[in-house]
Amino acid sequence: MSRLKKILENQNVFFESGKTRDINFIKNKLKLLKKSIIVNEDVIHQALYKDFKKPKFEAYISEFGILISEIDHVLKNLSKWSKPKRVRSSKLNFPSKDYIYSEPYGAVLVIAPWNYPFQLAISPVISAIAAGNTVVLKPSEVTIHTADMIKSILKDIFEESHLYVELGGVPETTLLLKERWDYIFFTGSVPVGRIIAKAAAVNLTPVTLELGGKNPCIVDETVDLKLTAKRLVWGKFLNAGQTCIAPDYILANNRIKADLVQHLKTEIFKAYGENPEISANYPRIVNAKNLQRLTAMLEDTEILVGGNSNTSDNYLAPTLVNNPKLDSKLMEGEIFGPILPVLDYQTEKDIESIVKSYEKPLGFYVFSKNKAFCNSLIQKYSFGGGAVNDTMIHFGNPRLPFGGVGESGIGAYRGHFGYE
Ligand code: NAD
Repeated sequence: MSRLKKILENQNVFFESGKTRDINFIKNKLKLLKKSIIVNEDVIHQALYKDFKKPKFEAYISEFGILISEIDHVLKNLSKWSKPKRVRSSKLNFPSKDYIYSEPYGAVLVIAPWNYPFQLAISPVISAIAAGNTVVLKPSEVTIHTADMIKSILKDIFEESHLYVELGGVPETTLLLKERWDYIFFTGSVPVGRIIAKAAAVNLTPVTLELGGKNPCIVDETVDLKLTAKRLVWGKFLNAGQTCIAPDYILANNRIKADLVQHLKTEIFKAYGENPEISANYPRIVNAKNLQRLTAMLEDTEILVGGNSNTSDNYLAPTLVNNPKLDSKLMEGEIFGPILPVLDYQTEKDIESIVKSYEKPLGFYVFSKNKAFCNSLIQKYSFGGGAVNDTMIHFGNPRLPFGGVGESGIGAYRGHFGYE
């Protein structure tokens, strides 16, 4: 029997013992996980820094603090979520008492990406463990220091028969996908999402697919330009733009576009100084392959700010590009890096012709003081999640489902949605 099969068999035996459904046992494991994350804060930061110079403060809010609040939220609500829920009877089955029981799926496979390599690996694990499953977690091979750190932290808390971390890349994931799972939770790119969906279909295994897309950011003429620029710069250049819900491109009303660009330049300067390469607040592109992919997008574009790179360190400056062609490399698909195209619109028809030319995005942002305009856009376009007058912050609320629609994903998680 292969090593993997043996691990899975042990997990099945453990699952059948009923232990994973013992709420005190689960809560205790989650408390240990929280404690371990806190105790290992420096170790976590070091791994993230080694992988792509993730700044400490960024890591604190986007990798560390968010997991602590997720665990707290789950611990507070788990007893309530796991109780059978009584629903009203119907005329047909009166006088019955009707209940919905929740039950774990069983063996869950979690496959994680590299961009928030700690948080996006651990967050689905919290959901899966809370709901009483066993887990095999496959972190991204691209951020190897974080993957090793995850394995070492988790093995001190969980028996292999409850949670096992398998390291590796495509060959290892391919082998994992040949096994029969009760649930697969995948975060990553759309093409690999299709591979996962196909593998899952063989056994009709349910999936959550957390994918990506081209997230529009619409800015009208009523906004406070300084504040808007500040929030756009934060959302776009956090993690050097390597964020699935980062603004991908700006569509600014043509009356304020030039002023917005000036404010964006000022805010980039304020956040990262004259030379972002020496800023302690600016991370690197994860590897040479991705740097090359991004710099190729800048060919034949009008760069307003940035654009310079350093291959010795996988550095790419925060970059603004003016009005790229819609059929350019930059506007072809998800950018996933620190390049922000600024386009303009005159009418709502212009917005529609651009936004609707792409698949349904994961994130959607509108900046406006005009409530009717905001509501009409929210109603008109289909997207995973979003914000008005801000970017990305919806991810900070575990009471909101996080997930995509259409090509940006299937299903949602965090908090109760993750438990479900
Ligand atoms: P990726 O799809 O290349 O890799 C994700 C995982 O899949 C990794 O663990 C990798 O080892 C595995 N994998 C890669 N190729 C595979 C193959 N051929 N067969 C089986 N497994 C394979 O994604 P990435 O580069 O790590 O992450 C970037 C992408 O993820 C972006 O598109 C981004 O939008 C998306 N993303 C989405 C979310 C979300 O929550 N929706 C969050 C972060 C990233």
